[in-house]
This record gives sequence, C-alpha cells and structure tokens, in this order.
Amino acid sequence: MAVQTLTESRMLIGGEWVDSSSGEWIDVIAPATGEPVGRVPAGTEADVDRAVRAAREAFADGRWRNLWLPDRVAVLHKLADLIDEHTPDIAELETAQTGTAIKLRKESDIPFSADNLRFFAGAIRHLEGKSAGEYSTDHTSMVRREPIGVVGQIAPWNYPFMMAVWKIGPALAAGNSVVLKPATATPLTTLRLGELAREAGLPDGVLNIVTGRGDVVGAAIAAHPDIDMVSLTGDTETGKKIQQLASGNLKRVHLELGGKAPFIVYDDADLDSAARGAVAGGYVNAGQDCTAATRVYVQRPVYDDFLDRLKGYTETVRVGDPRDPTTDMGCLISDAQLARVDGFVERARQAGARVVTGGARAEVPGLSGPFYQPTVIDGLDQDSEIVQKEVFGPVLTVLAFDTEEEVLAKANDTRYGLSSSVWTRDVFKAMRASKALDFGAVWVNDHLPISSEMPHGGFKHSGFGKDMSSYSFEEYTQVKHVMVELSGVADKSWHYTIFGDAPAG
Ligand code: NAD
Repeated sequence: MAVQTLTESRMLIGGEWVDSSSGEWIDVIAPATGEPVGRVPAGTEADVDRAVRAAREAFADGRWRNLWLPDRVAVLHKLADLIDEHTPDIAELETAQTGTAIKLRKESDIPFSADNLRFFAGAIRHLEGKSAGEYSTDHTSMVRREPIGVVGQIAPWNYPFMMAVWKIGPALAAGNSVVLKPATATPLTTLRLGELAREAGLPDGVLNIVTGRGDVVGAAIAAHPDIDMVSLTGDTETGKKIQQLASGNLKRVHLELGGKAPFIVYDDADLDSAARGAVAGGYVNAGQDCTAATRVYVQRPVYDDFLDRLKGYTETVRVGDPRDPTTDMGCLISDAQLARVDGFVERARQAGARVVTGGARAEVPGLSGPFYQPTVIDGLDQDSEIVQKEVFGPVLTVLAFDTEEEVLAKANDTRYGLSSSVWTRDVFKAMRASKALDFGAVWVNDHLPISSEMPHGGFKHSGFGKDMSSYSFEEYTQVKHVMVELSGVADKSWHYTIFGDAPAG
C-alpha cells in the first residue's frame, strides 16, 4: 500500500488560506493505521468572526448572488468537473481520514457529490412558486425567492466530502455566502473542496471553511449574531444544542440528525433479496450511516430461514485495510466509537440477547485500527437499549413479528424518523406501509439508494428540513411577496376602511 503523505492544510477565509488565531493545530489521524495523515488549524471564536465578516462582505456587495445566473451556474458545473477529475485522490484522502472502504468512496459518494452539484446548478435555474396574478383587486402579486444571507453549516465525519457538498451546493446555488465547519476528525477533503471551489472560480469570501472543535467553532457558528441560518448534519443531541444557540438572533435552523431505520421483512418477501439488502443496508460505511438498516423485523413463519441467509451473507463481508479495493468494510472512526459499539453489544449480551455472528473486534493483520466484525443479534425486546438507541456501527438487530399492525407500530416506536424499508411482493401491503411509516423515506424492496432529485431528511428527532432535491432550496431561500398596484389612482377603493366614508351604493 502507498505510504500516506502528511497534509498540512489551512483554513479558507476571505479567499485566503489562514492559520488559526490561536496558532494551535489539530492532528488528523488515519483511524486504520493510527498514523497522522494531516493537520489543520484549531479554529477559534475569533476565526469564526473573521469568516462571518468575509462572508457578509461577499453577500453585501453581491459579487456572487448578483452574478449573471449562467455564470454562477457555470462555476458549480466547473466544480463538479474538477471533482470528477480528482475523484481518485479525494477518495484516497477520504478513506485515509475516515478509515472506511475506498471502493465506497471512489465508486459511490465522491462521484455522487459531483452529480449533486450538477443537479443544484440545474435546479436553481427554474425554482418554482405561485404564478404572478391578481389575487387582490387592482394588484398583481408575485413571489421572489431571495437567498438567506450568511449561512453557517456544520458537517459530520461519516461522509465528510459528500455532506459538505450537500450543504454548500444548494446554499451557493441560491446565492448565499457560507461559513462551513467540517467535523473535527475529518476536515481534509472539505479543505480540498475549498481548493477546487477556488479553482472553479468561486469569488473570494463566498465559501469560508473554519476547522476545529464542535464546542468551539460549531458553537460559535450557531450563536453568531450575524449568521442568518445554521444547518447541521450530526447527532440529535448536537442538534438540540445548536437550536438553542441559534435562538439568540432567531436564525433559521435546518437539522439532519440521527436515525434508527426499521427494515420490515414480510413472509411473502423475496428472502434472498431481503437478506442481501440487510447486509448492504446495515454495513454500509461500517454501519456509520444515518439511514443504515438497524432494526430488522421479520415475520415469524420465515424468521429462521431469513436469519440463516442473513448470517451467511454477513459472514462473506470482507473486513480489511480500507485502502484495499477488495475490502468491503474498513474500520470505525475511532477507538472511542469502537468502545461505544462494543458496549451496546456487551450490554445486550448480558441482558440475554444472542449474538448470531460477529460481536467482537475484528483483527486485521498489520493494522491496529478500530475494526469491528459485522454483527447480527437476536433474542431482543422492542425496548432493548440496542433496539432503541443509535449504535452507529455494523450491528443489525433482528426481531420477530406476527401481524402487519404489530410491525408497523414497532417500526414507528422510536424517537427517530429518518428512513425505513419494507420488503414484500404484495403491493397493497407495501402501499399501506409507505403511508403508515413515520419516516422521511420509505424504500420498498430496497434500502439505501438516494438520488439528487429526491429529498433526504428526517421526521421527529431525526430533524427537519431537506437535503438534495428542489426541496433543499426551501431551506436556503426565503420567499418574498411583491405586490404591484395597477390602477394608479391616489384614492384607493379600500382606503375608506381606515379614513373617510364608504363609497355610495
Ligand atoms: P456530531 O453531532 O458529534 O458532530 C457533527 C458536527 O457538529 C461536527 O462538525 C461537530 O464538530 C459539530 N459539533 C459537535 N458538538 C457541537 C456543539 N456543541 N456545538 C456545535 N457544533 C458541534 O455528529 P457526528 O458524530 O460527526 O456524526 C454522526 C451523527 O450524524 C449520527 O448521529 C448520524 O446519524 C448523523 N448523521 C445524520 C445524517 C442525516 O442526513 N440525517 C447524515 C450523516 C450523519
């Protein structure tokens, strides 16, 4: 395997690559090897302030939002082209800093990020709204969609590059200025995105990237009085803190939070397809995926058959060096995350659950990182901790059910509401589930696929607002009503309701 090169990256503020005002740095460690892969400035509240001033200036002078739309769109297309051109090296860096499999990065989320940008660039050209018309006598009304202003964005570590694109894509397309904070552990590809954005011709100050800790940089973004909106993708508890901090200046808030997806297998389902789907949906990105299939509910007559197949496919998953293109599953993000995942499994075991396969650290020759075996657990109750809480690791819990009514109630019995799936050959059952499942997404006979054109976002404690699709522009634009008087007369027909007498007759 190639030796990692140490990357020293600076923050992007006002078009310049700058150090932190603290002069301090944070090492970025490759989780698989435990070796440093780069270092970034430990940003401060003062750095956030600097970035906000740059973003505000860029917004105020209109260097981006007033650019002729085809020119603005061309910058985003150029950025997408640059991402395509650099996919192999972005994927390598992403794998190094996250420890997850190179094939997922290279074949899936980095190319998809380029597609996302092309979608945003296209969609901004035809935003929709009410048609202009006469809704009141003697007036033509029309709706304008204006950018929000300075948008603060805070991203997670699981898909660092793609999450950054989901954030900046619609925000920039809509003409906003951005202050973006990547996750503390995984800032390198976001800074690379900043480099490519500059190369694509994005004007200075429109995209600012401040690296550092969540409770310092993230909190300063959420609380800043001159940021108009904050968007977080992260943990539900972080979302609550951000919502509180944002209340100081009534920021618009967009939250993409945790998940605990149910995966319902009816007895008429194609069991092999469902078992493969559970493996793909459960172990994607080593289970560190907010939409991951985690709660598998199987109808009792096919329970044993399904479990056998699930165990069989799970045991084919190749855990290994994330840089190896034949590796299916790399490691977790940190030792702390491994301890957390293992803690859930151990507590379930102690409470009487059965570990069907996995359930322990995985040994990968020559690598000391936090590798964990793909794990299947059954013998659990609906209210077990591991069934109710987000584990964020490669662990599938399997529970039996008898009736449709029972499983839909159990599937909805969670504080989360991000995604869900149902496996059946019965179109009526599938349609009833699509209506009843209280989640932002329902897949029928699949689990995971997403597309640039369709919205992604949660219900309940999974947050609110949408990423991707035209709906993302609802977050990053505000609607303005413009009303134009048509008669030109000074004495308007309605003035008498405030002064003077009603017209005769
Ligand atoms: P996290 O909440 O720990 O961190 C997310 C971001 O918030 C990071 O940049 C972090 O530095 C920052 N942050 C942390 N504490 C903060 C604070 N007090 N104030 C302001 N910012 C703070 O989440 P994570 O561990 O990076 O990511 C995993 C979580 O993200 C999981 O819960 C996962 O389900 C969720 N997620 C959701 C989606 C979605 O689309 N709904 C997508 C990916 C990940």
